[in-house]
Amino acid sequence: MNANHLGDEADLLLRGGRIRTLDPGGSTTDALAVRAGRIIALGAEALGLHATETVDLDGRTAIPGVNDAHLHAAWLGARWPHLFFSDASPHEQPSGTLIRTAVERRAALRNAWRLLAELGITSYTEPGIGPGEDAGETGCFGTAMMDTYLELHRAGVQTARVTLLRLFGELDGSADLAAFEQGIRAPKPETDPHWLAVTGVKIFADGIPPMTTAWVSEPYPDGTSGGLLPQGAEGALHAYRRMIGLAVERGEQVAVHATGDRSIEEFLRVLEAHPRAAAAPHYVVHADLATPAQIERMGAVGAGFAVQPLIAEHTRDWAGAQLGAARIAAAWPLSHMIASGALTTITSDAPIATPDWRIGLDASLALLGRDDAGIREQLLRRVTIDPARQDGASAWKGSLEVGKVADITVLDEDPAAPGRPFGDVGIARTIVDGRTVFAQA
Ligand SMILES: [Zn+2]
Repeated sequence: MNANHLGDEADLLLRGGRIRTLDPGGSTTDALAVRAGRIIALGAEALGLHATETVDLDGRTAIPGVNDAHLHAAWLGARWPHLFFSDASPHEQPSGTLIRTAVERRAALRNAWRLLAELGITSYTEPGIGPGEDAGETGCFGTAMMDTYLELHRAGVQTARVTLLRLFGELDGSADLAAFEQGIRAPKPETDPHWLAVTGVKIFADGIPPMTTAWVSEPYPDGTSGGLLPQGAEGALHAYRRMIGLAVERGEQVAVHATGDRSIEEFLRVLEAHPRAAAAPHYVVHADLATPAQIERMGAVGAGFAVQPLIAEHTRDWAGAQLGAARIAAAWPLSHMIASGALTTITSDAPIATPDWRIGLDASLALLGRDDAGIREQLLRRVTIDPARQDGASAWKGSLEVGKVADITVLDEDPAAPGRPFGDVGIARTIVDGRTVFAQA
């Protein structure tokens, strides 16, 4: 393609800095042109175009828009500025019902979207909205919140792209197989998948290691082994396996909250036995105690992991008291995940931890025990192109390549330069679909 075929007009030109494309070769360039929300040219070709608007990067670095592949936006917007991992004492934390009315639901989403724009986040996965939470205490996850998502989506006011998983049980709670079977047969809403993609279902398999509710093969010191949350007439394991199989069969993406190696193992067994398992990028959320062999097998079936190194940092001592030194040393196997090539996304789980992905990447460096340009680029991929793969959308977002959407995060410094915390790198501008949704004052 050359400039003549493009016409020679762009809506937007970025120049004067470094553009880390995060394409397969990890190339960098010095200019990027956008028309109608898409990247139309890079480098010298972009500089040859007339642009309606030019942004001088002034030595800054542009990367693909950040995608938080596991973030509860409605809950975050309702609770902000309160996070579960924060300095605030428990009695300062919001509790009980956070949202009651449609006005409050809209406000929560808009509040989250404003915050995410300030953080350079252009896409996220809302992991679990649906009828299982219609009686939920917070008011953040039920069918009414799905309706608010659809309302704002149809009004065209989103400043972040959303991938949404339906929920037919309780958040962090039990799920009944019969309700799941009924729910998954209900039709999905009609949406523009570039902005609101309802890709699949969230299933809660177990709890968390610090509470000894992760389902593990080697018992905890008290002799218990945790267990499964799904329930059904033929027992928990049958219900769990049936939920996964039913969703895979229907072509739905399956995201399983699983922290213990036993619950991960059973998920894997269903995927390995299912001829259609590779049709969607299924994944384990958390995967605290995934074993190296399980990580390899997960990659082999085209499935992956959405992990939260910042939660690991916050809960290491607490979990260690339950798991013992040997198991805690092997927990949160991020380096195995990256080395295996299995789909791996680094996510916040906000409002559990901060939605600031820079802090999450610093926790990742600490977990990996290294800091160099190579690992930094690997980590940047885990918040951009790998989440796009998880969304089933890497053909059109997640890297800065011609033809892809112009979702761009502009940073004050090059985040791949080692030695400086990611957290010290300022966010200068956030561009979604070619439109600036946040710019540093
Ligand atoms: Zn979560």
